[in-house]
Amino acid sequence: MTILGSTGSVGRQTVALLEAAPGQFQVRALVAGRNVALLAAQARALAAEHAVICDPAEGPALERALAGTATICAAGPAAVLAAAALPADWTMAAITGAAGLEPTLAAIRGGGAVALANKEALVCAGEVMLRAVRDAGATLLPVDSEHNAIFQALAEPHRGAVERIVLTASGGPFRTASREEMARATPEAALKHPVWSMGAKISIDSATMMNKGL
Ligand code: NDP
Repeated sequence: MTILGSTGSVGRQTVALLEAAPGQFQVRALVAGRNVALLAAQARALAAEHAVICDPAEGPALERALAGTATICAAGPAAVLAAAALPADWTMAAITGAAGLEPTLAAIRGGGAVALANKEALVCAGEVMLRAVRDAGATLLPVDSEHNAIFQALAEPHRGAVERIVLTASGGPFRTASREEMARATPEAALKHPVWSMGAKISIDSATMMNKGL
């Protein structure tokens, strides 16, 4: 398995699942943006073959943190793409926003199963990605809740029976707010989702309903 964005909200949950099944998974690569301390701790806990940090300035710190282990360290955007392209049966694509596009494409081109949390990549370049999936014989599976629910609803034998799809929203911090209150809303208030603890970007996307748009 490879986890792209292992230090984020989705990435940490994926790491927790692997930790709960010791010896059942071999971790090819863990990839993060800047959080060297957590990436190194995850790489030690899972005996990852590769640990890659996108910020080139953090490369030496990663090397120091993983000194004495067998984990191969690398840093920089090119190293992120190289790690994503390493053969893996499963890749969790959980780098947030458009930054996730290129690494996710690299994983798809490897032909394995790609669990896609980063739906922004599909919004940015859906045609390119789906063509790459077909060309590589890869499998793309939706991880995000709305997409996964639709994916299940459209599975055979229901496919032809679905006439329209309605997305509901459970309600973020502004569910009961008036338009005037929403006009004065701050990013801090938007980050306080009453139910879910998620990454900052998706919390804002959720509070503004942008998430449903995506
Ligand atoms: P977070 O912001 O919590 O995590 C993002 C991850 O991506 C971190 O590991 C971060 O590293 C890493 N990262 C950011 N930029 C780069 C880069 N250029 N190169 C390599 N790694 C990078 O996001 P979430 O986990 O919340 O969300 C991830 C994706 O999943 C998003 O697309 C989101 O829409 C989707 N999603 C999230 C859900 C959730 O519950 N959180 C639910 C459904 C979908 P670092 O922290 O080290 O900087």
